[in-house]
Amino acid sequence: MNLDFSNKKALVRVDFNVPLDKEFKITDDTRIKAAIPTIQHILEQGGSVILMSHLGRPLSKLNEDGSINREKFTLKHLVKHLRRKLKTRVHFVDDCIGKAAVKKAAELKPGEVLLLENTRFYKEEEKGDEEFAKKLAALGDIYVNDAFGTAHRAHASTTIVAHYFDKYHKTFGFLMEREIENATRAMKDPEKPVTCVTGGSKVSDKILLLEKFLDYADNILIGGAMAYTFFLAKKGSVGNSLVEEDKLKIAKEFLKKAKDAGVKVLLPRDSVCGDKFAADAQVEVYPSNQIPDGWMGLDIGPSAARSFASAIRKSKTVIWNGPMGVFEMPVFANGTKVVAKACASATRKGAFTMVGGGDSVAAVNQLKLAKKVSFVSTGGGAMLEFLEGKELPGIKAING
Ligand code: AMP
Repeated sequence: MNLDFSNKKALVRVDFNVPLDKEFKITDDTRIKAAIPTIQHILEQGGSVILMSHLGRPLSKLNEDGSINREKFTLKHLVKHLRRKLKTRVHFVDDCIGKAAVKKAAELKPGEVLLLENTRFYKEEEKGDEEFAKKLAALGDIYVNDAFGTAHRAHASTTIVAHYFDKYHKTFGFLMEREIENATRAMKDPEKPVTCVTGGSKVSDKILLLEKFLDYADNILIGGAMAYTFFLAKKGSVGNSLVEEDKLKIAKEFLKKAKDAGVKVLLPRDSVCGDKFAADAQVEVYPSNQIPDGWMGLDIGPSAARSFASAIRKSKTVIWNGPMGVFEMPVFANGTKVVAKACASATRKGAFTMVGGGDSVAAVNQLKLAKKVSFVSTGGGAMLEFLEGKELPGIKAING
């Protein structure tokens, strides 16, 4: 963000994909709040801001006659809220390219904001169409990408548009800078011992992450349904737990690679099991490799939670992605809660702790512990890919 924005029109890609209720009122404005510092910085420097974002998936949810449901997916729903937050004039144009957008952008004065209509009203957006991106680019003097949540997509407004600005006229916003800085700090030369915690439902979704963790972790803790694929690979009985039978070989190979690399892998030695996948299930604790038929592991057990927490508390760097169990149901939320609290406790003792990606973020927020860890990422899929070591197209387009 160290560009001079005075008298410049900054074309800023934000992630305003916020949840709306039936009356189109914003139910959670976290994403808007996250973009405010970048917008305000540009305005304070005497620049003006042209905001572009997507909202939902309008082209996958067309009206019966094949037209776009503009009423539902318009970004106009956000204008009032933005005015209140920014305390400045926020104009809106019901297109993101074309004559009206060009005119409104040209008329924009320093200190003012223009919100463009949903970029996903055009199929060209997700296709990363060059011509469409060029039209977006023509609206501003400087391009700012502050939408970390979509940085893993090579869409027109997140990536291709940046090709039309030279390196002196494009930059990351504060939110993107923080995400990149924190994830890089966690992955590159982290203070040891490093504990990586992963959970969630599928090994197939997390195997690349697990393999990347081998580069720098001292301990890898595996919770969630994923753990049962590992137990099955080790010839344990996992009852009716969720497993990926076609991933047993991958699981076995991973354990061997970890052993060869000298990385300790902790699987949950016991599990809180339910007789059905439901909040009112009967509950029993079983060793995770001896779960009887008719029972499924739905959370790490009390003994596993203690050893996971102990490893986390002894660490200087912790990266956590994915819940330990079905935390949405209170009876199966304890493992995730214990891990979140251990992260908070490690942070208090000076560790760098980062929670990145989807559901573990939701869990930390639900437990009101977000402020007690060092960094909570806003980008689910994007952070997962970043941690997997992939070069995200939205980042590459700025860095050149
Ligand atoms: P993911 O999107 O892969 O991070 O997975 C998150 C989802 O995994 C959450 O909705 C959890 O409820 C679910 N989950 C975690 N542990 C289990 C488990 N042991 N069995 C079934 N689902 C689980």
